[in-house]
Amino acid sequence: MQAAALIQLGMEARIGPEETDVIEQIIMPLQVALEREVIYRSIEAERQKAYQRSIRDSLTGLFTRLYMLDVMERHCSVHDRNDSAPVAALMVDVDHFKRINDTHGHAAGDEVLKQVARVLQESIRETDIPVRFGGEEFILFLVGASAFGMPDYAERIRSAIERHRFAIQADQEIVVTVSVGAAMRRQYESLDELIRRADGALYRAKQGGRNRVELIGSG
Ligand code: GH3
Ligand code: MG
Ligand code: MG
Repeated sequence: MQAAALIQLGMEARIGPEETDVIEQIIMPLQVALEREVIYRSIEAERQKAYQRSIRDSLTGLFTRLYMLDVMERHCSVHDRNDSAPVAALMVDVDHFKRINDTHGHAAGDEVLKQVARVLQESIRETDIPVRFGGEEFILFLVGASAFGMPDYAERIRSAIERHRFAIQADQEIVVTVSVGAAMRRQYESLDELIRRADGALYRAKQGGRNRVELIGSG
């Protein structure tokens, strides 16, 4: 609505033919404006819903890669301008996940992924960015102050998953572990390169026996 009118009546309103005329003249454009506004709002609400769907993974509720690309570009450019606003990437991969699927079924595997995602989310700050990167692979981006605590976060996550009891059926709980590869971003480093280094650390954690953390600094 482009305008609103405030009408104060000093005396009792009498609606005669003249007033009825005026009312009839304004009622049409008012109705059109109102209907348009309802349409605009529902388009905007749909747009918002579609955006929310595209940024969240439907199984785990974590962010998608699409959102990661969008938001991390901005965090990286803040870091490029200011070295005291660092970024760290923790790559988290479930150990022997294929076995979990093979032993307990795909639905149980899905349940494990959901619970892993929840533990991850609870282990970081709200300002950090948890992403479902692939099937049973996650990346957590620590931004700003929490990036300085990268080694602690990596170990906290590893041990939180190890301690968590994964209820996959009413009467069945299993133990799941993850390997973590973590890297501190170098200023001006591309997101691809940062992920590649975290992945290299993850590879070493797997080679080293799994349920382990491997770290790489920014130097
Ligand atoms: P590693 O310790 O070396 O990481 O071994 P792994 O078995 O975890 O790794 P691998 O890459 O061999 O197997 C990953 C499996 O994850 C294979 C794939 O079928 C399964 N997977 C991928 N996405 C999903 C999913 O959304 N749900 C379920 N239930 N399984 C999935
Ligand atoms: Mg795995
Ligand atoms: Mg994997």
